[in-house]
Parts: sequence; structure tokens; C-alpha cells
Amino acid sequence: MSGRLLIVSNRLPVTVSGSDGRPVVRASVGGLATGLRTPHERSHGTWIGWTGELVELGEDGRCELQRQLQKRRLVSVELSAEEIRVYYERIANSVLWPVCHDRLDQLPLRVNGWDVYERVNARFADAVAREWREGDQVWVHDYHLLRVPALVRERIPRARIGFFLHIPFPTPEIFFTLAWRRELVEGMLGADVVGFHTKRHRGHFAAAVHRLLGINAHANEFEYGGRRVRAGVFPMGIDARDFERRAESPAVRSEVTRLRRNDTGPLLLGIDRLDYSKGIPRRLIAVEQLLRRHPEWRERVRFVQIAVPSREGVRAYQHVREEVESLVGRINGTYSVPAWAPIHYVHRSVSRSVLIALYRAADVMVVTPVRDGMNLVAKEFVASRTDNDGVLVLSEFAGAAEELVDSLIVNPYDVDQTAEAMHQALVMAPEERTRRMRALRECVMKNDVQRWAANFLEALGE
Ligand code: UDP
Repeated sequence: MSGRLLIVSNRLPVTVSGSDGRPVVRASVGGLATGLRTPHERSHGTWIGWTGELVELGEDGRCELQRQLQKRRLVSVELSAEEIRVYYERIANSVLWPVCHDRLDQLPLRVNGWDVYERVNARFADAVAREWREGDQVWVHDYHLLRVPALVRERIPRARIGFFLHIPFPTPEIFFTLAWRRELVEGMLGADVVGFHTKRHRGHFAAAVHRLLGINAHANEFEYGGRRVRAGVFPMGIDARDFERRAESPAVRSEVTRLRRNDTGPLLLGIDRLDYSKGIPRRLIAVEQLLRRHPEWRERVRFVQIAVPSREGVRAYQHVREEVESLVGRINGTYSVPAWAPIHYVHRSVSRSVLIALYRAADVMVVTPVRDGMNLVAKEFVASRTDNDGVLVLSEFAGAAEELVDSLIVNPYDVDQTAEAMHQALVMAPEERTRRMRALRECVMKNDVQRWAANFLEALGE
């Protein structure tokens, strides 16, 4: 790559906290931050984004923060409290998120604030225009910034721009409920390369472009505004080697022993943000059904559900939490005995070593979102299983299902089928578990996040 890479995402790849009015900047461990670290460093480019809500920093603290960001080649886009409320919490998280996850029932009755979404997207585009130099490539990420590719194109017509959507692109019928459907699609078409996790999401996008603008794709390319726009499929991976390495570490090994202590029964595991897209309530009902239909598992099997608190200010998230907690209470109330409970519900995040120890200790990992762009948890489970054991039960509506075909694929809306898949996983012969896990591992280890970034950038460079 000759020029630099300018990365644009809602959040910068750091978390900023404060101690006595002084900023403390730490690198994030998320998939995107890891995958783009190498291209960001190698190209000497900048990363443009929001720092997240800041604690009170005095004048000196703010200057210090700018210095620290600059050292890491990060450029912050400052957002007011009102902009965060409308652009981020309302339009992105309460409108675009549910629509892209097929949950029209979660939409507010009235949506306004598109003007604020546009204004904030324009500020990101302005920041790009300030940073951009001849030969630079721009890579914009995700549903918070759907208008940015077109807004950068207005400012710098000859820029090379990529866009990647990390969440699903829904069927046009659902997407068209958005008042701003046309503006959003035109925003994405400002890019030269538009990337999706799966062929299905790309197909939905192509159908939406056709119906809104009358443009047909030929070999996944659109003629638009006198340019060619390529729609590509780039399934995102994880930092697979890192999970593999940590899974073998002494800290994780001793945590696995602790998790399995005194226990002879099998362990089923769910790990998700507490989000209505993750299918947790139906998963719990499937566990209940497993205990009802297969009484041999009573007083034996344990289902551990880690539910990481998420978007707690949004009403729909409070509601799903109530639903989950009421189901946990009902099922435990029905099947528990003093020495055993079927469901272990943890409503908080866990450390990385506990997370990986859970992946290692589980007999069956249950990943049953009703809709998910990719689902990295499924891939992290696989990467952690250097023992070639453990069974993955995976929703057909997770992007990961297009690749992880050696898992037990289920329709999460079919609770009986999910319960039977859990049973099948629990009784699966060791040779079949190993055969499936080896095949899954080959896929996850090869298609890691570094390769994902390299593939996208190669397409952008063409
Ligand atoms: N995760 C975490 N802390 C936890 C549990 C999970 O940081 O206590 C991470 C997990 O390792 C994974 C991410 O959260 O990388 C979830 O990504 P995924 O694609 O599965 O779902 P998303 O939350 O992005 O919708």
C-alpha cells in the first residue's frame, strides 16, 4: 500500500478513564481494534472516532488527552451530550440496530433525529477531509456512519473509500421501513468497496439498491455516479492465535479446574451481551424443554449464561432483562433441588481468562441469536478448543453459520429443535465431536481477523 490508511469508526480503539482529572488511555481488546492494529501501525495512518463519554477532565486534562491520542495517531471527534443521545442512542442503537436485526417490534413509535445523524456523520467526514493526503485510503466502519462514505466523496471526489457493515443488512421489505432508506443506501454507495459478512447480507443490499435506484449489479458491481462500486463478502474473524495461546496458559488451566470442581455433569454455555437479538429467552425455554423431554439430564446438566449488561438506558434492553430474569427464576424454581440448579445466570462481564476458561470447560456452546451479523463468540469458542473437543450449537441466523457448517445448526425460533440439538450435542460420540471440532478449527484458525483486514484492504487497493 503506498498511501496511508485512515480508519473511521464510531469509537476509537481505546477506552479513556480518568484519575484525579487526568486521563488514562488504554487500548481496547475488541475484534476491530485487534484486526486493524497492524494496518494502522504499518501505514502510519490515523484512526478517527469518538472517545466515548468522558469523565470530567479539566483544561489540563483535555490537553493531556489530546497529546496521548496524538501519540497513538488517533483523532477524536467530539460529540455533545445531545448528539450522543440522538445520533448514537436513538438513531443508531434504537432505530438502525433493531431494523437491521429484523426487530421492527422494538422501534419507537415516532422517529426523529435524522438531521442530527447527518450532522454528526458530516463531522466525521470533515475530520477525514482534514487528515486526508493524496494516495490515502479511507476505511469507514458500521451502522453509525452509513452516510460518511458519500459525505467524504463530496469533499474529496477522488478518494479511495471502503465501507464495512458489521451488522446484518436486512431484507428490503424490512429496510424500507426506514424513512431515510434512500439516503442511507446512497451514503454507502459513496464508497468504492462496500463489505458485508455474508452473501445473504450483500444480496439484500443489492436488492435494496435495485429497488430504490433502479440499478442492477453485474458481477457484484454497481455503476453509480459515474463510478464503479464493488459489493464484497468479507466474513470477519478473530485474533485466533491469541485465543489459542491463552487457552493453553496456566491461569486458564487452573480456572478450568476450578469451574469443573466437584462436578461430574456436563456444562452447557451461553455468552452474549444482554441484547434482544441474541435469542436468550428462547434458549432458556429450550433448556427447560431439554429437562422436560430428557429427564436423565435433571440434577446433572448445568447451563451457564453470561449476560453482559448492555445499553441499559434503552427501554427495550430493560425489558429483555426482565424477561430473561423471570424465565431463569421460573425454570430454576421448577427444576432445582437444594444441591443443584439447572441455570447459572451471571449478569456482568467476565475477565478474559474466565471467558476462555468457560469456553474450555464447556461441553456444549449454545449460540442461538435470532439475528446476528457474524457472532464472534462462536469463533472464540472454537479457537480456544486446542483439545479438539466440545460441540457448537449455532443459529442459522448468525453470519457465522455460513462458515461454521460443522456445528449443529438450529433455527432458534424452533425451540423443540434447539432442545433436541442440545441433547444430541450432549450424547455425541467423542470421535464425532473431534471430527467436527477439527473442521471448525481449520476454518477459524485460517480465516482470522488479520486475514479479514488484509482481504478487505486488498480489494480496496485493486
Ligand atoms: N466479551 C467480553 N466480555 C465478556 C463476554 C464477552 O468482552 O464478559 C466479548 C467476546 O469475547 C466477544 C464480544 O464480547 O469478542 C462479543 O462479540 P459478538 O460478535 O459475539 O457479539 P456483539 O456483542 O458484538 O453483538
